Amino acid sequence: MSVSPHSAAPVYRGRFAPSPTGPLHFGSLVAALASCLDARAHGGEWWVRIEDVDAPRSVPGAAESILACLEAHGFAWDGPVLWQSTRLEAYRAALDGLRAAGLAYACACSRQEIAALSAQIGVDGARLYPGTCRLGLPPGRAARAWRLKVTGEVTFVDRVQGPVRQCLPQEVGDFVLLRGDGQFAYQFAVVVDDAMQGISDVVRGADLLDSTPRQIFLQRCLGYPQPRYAHVPVATHAAGEKLSKQTRAPALAPEQAAANLVAALAFLGQRPPPELAQASVAEVWAWALGAWDFACIPRCRGQVWAPDSGADATVAPGRLGGQQGAVGAVQSV
Ligand SMILES: [Zn+2]
Repeated sequence: MSVSPHSAAPVYRGRFAPSPTGPLHFGSLVAALASCLDARAHGGEWWVRIEDVDAPRSVPGAAESILACLEAHGFAWDGPVLWQSTRLEAYRAALDGLRAAGLAYACACSRQEIAALSAQIGVDGARLYPGTCRLGLPPGRAARAWRLKVTGEVTFVDRVQGPVRQCLPQEVGDFVLLRGDGQFAYQFAVVVDDAMQGISDVVRGADLLDSTPRQIFLQRCLGYPQPRYAHVPVATHAAGEKLSKQTRAPALAPEQAAANLVAALAFLGQRPPPELAQASVAEVWAWALGAWDFACIPRCRGQVWAPDSGADATVAPGRLGGQQGAVGAVQSV
């Protein structure tokens, strides 16, 4: 991030951005802890953003439960919590800019129509959009969604996963910014918010590695700076699927906060002494802030996590997609 030497803004600003679809579980604790400790190790700020842009998927009360659970685990964030549901005007303005620049276009196609015309599956498991409306809506058809015209290849170096390359037209296709149901797409809202908040560093789970080239492409279209990215391994069940509400990951027990933090530190390769699990939350944080070593984070996309068996079983790339598609589809080069 380009910050002028005269600016009062910190050089490093990180964030944790949970979706309020359920309570905090071990997988989201790992992402929160990695992003917070990396920010503090750089003398930076750490912000929290509630990604409730997808109103139909948001569960009432989940955001408040996540924030309370973070506090019980000793997290302290900078600045006010940003709620994406308050940001619709900013997303609308950004979309208007892309439309004015000829980079976004209206699309009339239904999912069935796309499936009938496209046999290719993209990185997120959906059919590649065949480009039907790229040159204008077919006669007599009304706009349902808005899509971004993608071109070329995006490459970047992830701080954990190394060099990544994705050819957007072949692996993603023209993707949706504003959905047919009137909801702004996750990819779009994240990019607008990261830029508005001045986020310099994104540290999050490797299940979002496939999304990053799309987000970088959008940043270029919108003239935004590009943050640095670090995708830490996600916690998976033994079968290789990511811990999530959908896979019945248990909610974290706040009364076991110190033990939960110690388990997350171990998952991130930090080797906390086992007796630390009996210490106070404040003592765990003191140890973690002093011992944090980014280079020790395992350089894989996922690790099996089971409370009693530790976190040393690495999952092969390509097994973490679940219903979202193959995480391993991004080429590491
Ligand atoms: Zn279309």
